[in-house]
Amino acid sequence: MTQETRDVAIIGGGLVGTTLALLLGEAGWRVDLFDAGPRPDGMAPAGDGPPALRVSALTAATERLLTSLGVWPWLAARRVAPYRGMAVWDAEGSGEIGFDAEDVGVASLGTIVENDLLLAGLRQRLGDLPSVTCHFEARLSGYRREAGVSTLLFEDGSRWRTPLVVGADGGRSVLRGLAGIAVSERDTGQVALVTSVRTEWGHGGIARQAFLPTGPLAFLPLNVPLSPGGEPALAGQSNDHHCSIVWSTTPSEAKRLTRLADNDAGREALARELEAGIGERLGQVRVIDAAPHFPIVQRHAQRYVDDGLALVGDAAHSLHPLAGQGVNLGMMDVAVLAEEWVRARQRGADPADARILARYARRRRGDNAVMLGAMQGFQRLFGSAQPALRLARNWGLGGVDRLMPVKRLMIRQALGEAGDLAERCR
Ligand SMILES: Cc1cc2nc3c(=O)[nH]c(=O)nc-3n(C[C@H](O)[C@H](O)[C@H](O)COP(=O)(O)OP(=O)(O)OC[C@H]3O[C@@H](n4cnc5c(N)ncnc54)[C@H](O)[C@@H]3O)c2cc1C
Repeated sequence: MTQETRDVAIIGGGLVGTTLALLLGEAGWRVDLFDAGPRPDGMAPAGDGPPALRVSALTAATERLLTSLGVWPWLAARRVAPYRGMAVWDAEGSGEIGFDAEDVGVASLGTIVENDLLLAGLRQRLGDLPSVTCHFEARLSGYRREAGVSTLLFEDGSRWRTPLVVGADGGRSVLRGLAGIAVSERDTGQVALVTSVRTEWGHGGIARQAFLPTGPLAFLPLNVPLSPGGEPALAGQSNDHHCSIVWSTTPSEAKRLTRLADNDAGREALARELEAGIGERLGQVRVIDAAPHFPIVQRHAQRYVDDGLALVGDAAHSLHPLAGQGVNLGMMDVAVLAEEWVRARQRGADPADARILARYARRRRGDNAVMLGAMQGFQRLFGSAQPALRLARNWGLGGVDRLMPVKRLMIRQALGEAGDLAERCR
């Protein structure tokens, strides 16, 4: 039997798709959200245990969006880690650049949030919206568009018809493929290893990133009591002795490092490598979790829209995590898409109208392309052992560090304030 979605079907209930469901549900739209994953067990994480492995650095623009949706207060009451400074340096040379929130008169440059906590916060707000229905264990496997209606087929054999469909199903989007939307793809030659550590010295609310010859190593500050789960304290008494690690490196190195984290002796060895990688700026390090790794493939869909269809988040673009922008760009996508659709409906227009979809694509694709290009450039510049490029990056970092107007511009970019943002993100 074919079932009917009412206003829109969203494929993918990750951070981006769930935020879109909230935005549209809040405007009274009847939304069906389909996700391949299991139904959540209803136990929202309390944010008081050891830190989660997957975290995101969220910009001020994303924070404003989540505040407008009522999600931020829920998160802030649990666990978030605002950071007031950033330090980025070339581990092979002398170049270094530092950013301080005070330079632009803001309290923080961004906030580190655990992904599972953010998803739980989004889902509990969704529970307040009767017009949104979530379907779990619903994996899309077929798609057809005919006469203004899309038919969606799921692996369990169920079939749905919908006037509008959104692909929020991640970097390897099935919907994008089924709709025949081409994607340009660039393997970065790196994978991202993640783990959590405790450090001897407090991070002081600074996000640190060292560019090593094999790729960038980030220590992202967390706000975790010293003894989550009753672990003995390493030093001091404050909440700033935990960091989330994102280490982008070659696939063979990542395999070796992931294996090290399998046992206690290996974790000791991994900790020594992390200490050396970060130039011993945080003292002694202890690895407190496993260290899985993820492929880093940059992708950009050649079109964001099709007849009655829009792509958002990683389904439209995925990029190197070195600047922590993936979730943020996805959030800006859905804020703009919802703004265009809600306004269209308010003036009596059909949200599936090609001109409305084209406006969404126009407002987002250029900004996302700039960020993808910047990540590629950074990776090339810092991945190069050529003496001329090494010299350039040392001069470049040091020079920019002394140029306050350029630094202010870069901070504005990091705050997510560049581009044609939706009103609720400004
Ligand atoms: C190591 C690492 C660190 C990162 N750090 C940051 C950071 O600091 N800041 C930042 O902004 N970004 C960061 N990113 C990027 C960020 O994680 C992604 O951009 C973001 O998670 C994308 O969200 P999404 O909802 O678009 O896709 P996903 O999170 O991939 O979600 C897709 C959803 O679709 C569902 N799905 C998939 N296929 C189907 C199907 N066929 N049918 C139904 N459902 C389906 C999946 O179950 C999933 O729930 C990082 C990435 C990595 C790898």
